[in-house]
Amino acid sequence: MARLQNLPPRLQPLRPKRPAAPSNPDSWRADKRTAAQRGYGYRWQQARAEYLQAHPHCVMCLREMGLLGMPTADVVVECAKRGVPEPVATVVNHVTPHRGDWRMFWDRGNWEPLCKRHHDSDAQRRDGSGGQRNRIGPDGRPVGSMDDR
Ligand SMILES: [Zn+2]
Repeated sequence: MARLQNLPPRLQPLRPKRPAAPSNPDSWRADKRTAAQRGYGYRWQQARAEYLQAHPHCVMCLREMGLLGMPTADVVVECAKRGVPEPVATVVNHVTPHRGDWRMFWDRGNWEPLCKRHHDSDAQRRDGSGGQRNRIGPDGRPVGSMDDR
């Protein structure tokens, strides 16, 4: 069972209490741990809430509305003027899929606020062109789909 030796380490368990035997760099996907144990736990909820407070609007909606890059307060005013609801973001999306890489997972430069609709359609788009859903991991097994929620 020869594994590629030049792969960067991908899995750095956050909880030393739970040595999850990262023998396979992609095992985080196949493992049976809960989302919380994979890093979507309390710390993520906190960071996510904080991020969405600072970036409350879906960037894709803003782009569609021509409001991208406008200060939040101005977006609120503009939406009120147009009589449309604010494009509230509820999901923090990883622009580049982190694939279990904790540095990418926590890199806020790699985050973007999205509404659920755009998050779902974006995920589908990325999966559509032979994306992650049918990707084959370095161990030769198919890699499952990504879930950032
Ligand atoms: Zn949106």
